[in-house]
Amino acid sequence: MDQPDDQPEDVVPILVVDDHDENLVAMRGILGRPGYRLVTARSGNEALKHVLKDDFAVILLDVLMPGMDGFETAGLIRTREASRHTPIIFLTAAGADLAMVERGYAVGAVDYLFKPLNAEMVRAKVGVFVDLFRKARQMRRQEELLRTAERDRNAAAIRESEALYEASFNGAAVGIAHVTSDGRWLRANPRFAQTIGYGPADLLNMHIADVVHPVDLTDDRVGLRRLFEGELDTYRREERYLHKDGHVVWVDQTVSPLRDASGKVKNLIFLIEDITNRRDAKKRERLLAGVSQLLLQSLDHPADMAGVAKLVVGSLGEWCVIGTIEGREGRERPTGKPAVAHADPRLAASADRLRSALAVSAAYAGSLTSRTTLTSLTANADLRAAWNVDGALLAELGVNVALSLPFVTHDRVLGRVTFLSAEAFGPGEVLTAHDVTQRIALALDNARLHREAEDAVRARDEFLSIASHELRTPLTPLRIQFQRMLDERGQLVVGRAERMQPILQRCERQVRRLETLIENLLDVSRITTGKMSLEVSEVDLGAVVRDVIFRFSRELAAAGCQLSLSLGDDGALVGRWDRLRMEQVVTNLVGNAIKYAPGKPIEITVSPGDAFGCTARLTIRDHGTGIPPSDLERIFQRFHRVVAASSISGLGLGLFIAKQIVDAHGGSISVESSGEGTQFVLDFPLRGTVEATPIPPDGGQKISMGSHPGPGPALLGLNDPGVWS
Ligand code: ADP
Repeated sequence: MDQPDDQPEDVVPILVVDDHDENLVAMRGILGRPGYRLVTARSGNEALKHVLKDDFAVILLDVLMPGMDGFETAGLIRTREASRHTPIIFLTAAGADLAMVERGYAVGAVDYLFKPLNAEMVRAKVGVFVDLFRKARQMRRQEELLRTAERDRNAAAIRESEALYEASFNGAAVGIAHVTSDGRWLRANPRFAQTIGYGPADLLNMHIADVVHPVDLTDDRVGLRRLFEGELDTYRREERYLHKDGHVVWVDQTVSPLRDASGKVKNLIFLIEDITNRRDAKKRERLLAGVSQLLLQSLDHPADMAGVAKLVVGSLGEWCVIGTIEGREGRERPTGKPAVAHADPRLAASADRLRSALAVSAAYAGSLTSRTTLTSLTANADLRAAWNVDGALLAELGVNVALSLPFVTHDRVLGRVTFLSAEAFGPGEVLTAHDVTQRIALALDNARLHREAEDAVRARDEFLSIASHELRTPLTPLRIQFQRMLDERGQLVVGRAERMQPILQRCERQVRRLETLIENLLDVSRITTGKMSLEVSEVDLGAVVRDVIFRFSRELAAAGCQLSLSLGDDGALVGRWDRLRMEQVVTNLVGNAIKYAPGKPIEITVSPGDAFGCTARLTIRDHGTGIPPSDLERIFQRFHRVVAASSISGLGLGLFIAKQIVDAHGGSISVESSGEGTQFVLDFPLRGTVEATPIPPDGGQKISMGSHPGPGPALLGLNDPGVWS
């Protein structure tokens, strides 16, 4: 029996069924040609087995066979779907009756061949079916090819569209995420995850409640439910998400349903755009405009601080504490109680308690002079340490995060503002906080400059009145002396020289007094314009002091002051100094001692200032009523006077000029005072060149004394001896 074998595709299988081998052999002879694959079977059963396995172009089926005859076999072949239309040619002996032929057609025969077979006829009939089979097979193949091509095209299109979708999803400039009906993130694109500080994979284990701010979640839940129920097509709002760091991210969120093939809402698509910067910028603009307006309204800063604190809470955290300081550098103190504002009116009592606690906290007062920026995510613990206030009180505030920034201008610290919040500050908020801080610092600085300008104007007015008084004072005795020399008609009274001499001496003293006053005024002007210079030469400090004391002999006696001078045993202390300016300094200090401590002893010491012979020290000590501590620093400022102008005359310039001269020599002057007297200590360098020492004058300009030749007048101190009578 022939078996189907692996033959080329265009080889056509033909089944021949006959129980007689000789017939099969004969058929092989007739149909054995290239392109045909003859399969033979000797019974109906065997034929059916082949039909199950192969698809034949035609079946040549003997009618009369033992067992299952041809008709029965044909019937069974027709019952099988694959062979229902396989052409069957019955082989029968010539002379078969018509009934049998009809029966053959009834079971699906397409033709009959009568034995003995005519080879040509067999080949012709089989050839027709083989052609048909081949065409059908070709058509099927073409169809198959078309289908494969179509499938390939479809698959490529699907791949392309999937890739396009992936690329758009992953590369989108907006955040895209899918959410399941139970609120879990199904997938998220990188932008979405990035917006809230996560990686796309992190979100897969999370729920929308882990991302949406609790305040917005309730509304979201309602909106999302309505989307699932088909009541809404889209749901859009600006809302807060929580960044992984804890800070708030504002997003413009649009949610729409993702339906399955049946139209049922399966998941939701979230589209988000980060609008934090936009909102922050708007908010910042509004806030800064408000703060500026408030600060500009008044230069009275403590009142403003409460307003500013109130304005910023809500926008920059829930609490705001502002503390400012006043006083000169190194001696700063808080300006009253700090401003404490809060966003929740129910916490007014806590705010009051915090204000009172901070007002008495030395740690808080100390923090106001610090330049450090504090950023804390454990605000309670950190502030308890920084402010030294009760932990329970801080806990009442309900804050976790603190951002504390100093007010710094012109390199000076003027206080600090502390923003407190339950949640972390976003980058935009931090920027705004810095802007607000800077504006407050500028406003404080302006207020300070304003106060200083006012003080300066007041001091100038006061000075003008004192100066005019002082300048007029010598004129009266001068006029009296002149009158004594002239009679009623204006004629010179001719008298003896002994009578005229004291009168002229008194006149000379008043003129010198005037000269000294004017010289001092000129000195101040030279110092502030940088035009004062030193004329240095080898000078012995002890000799300078001795000369000045000698000139004061009359005044010391008149004031009843006992003066003791100690020059030490170390020999002369000689430096390169400006002798006249040194005399001017000593004259001012000795004159002050006589003026402010009359009737009391004065001790003056000249000694080495250190063990290495680098400095010479001059100490002048009196036993007067002293200078109050609050004035100690200011006595070296221009026009500053502790005493009333009416009680002891003076312009308030002597110490200012003295300090400028000492500084210009590279030396130092300091003062100590108590109720029992005052001591000035002056140190002068014995080595180094004074010429190269640029000294910024108190007036704010730099002068380089000795760098250009000065007028070099015979300068005397303001408290020049001989001017008091
Ligand atoms: P003036 O003596 O003209 O007022 P000064 O500049 O010399 O100006 O001194 C400034 C102020 O310092 C004085 O007005 C006085 O109040 C205070 N003062 C200076 N020296 C003494 C002193 N030895 N004892 C007490 N007060 C002093």
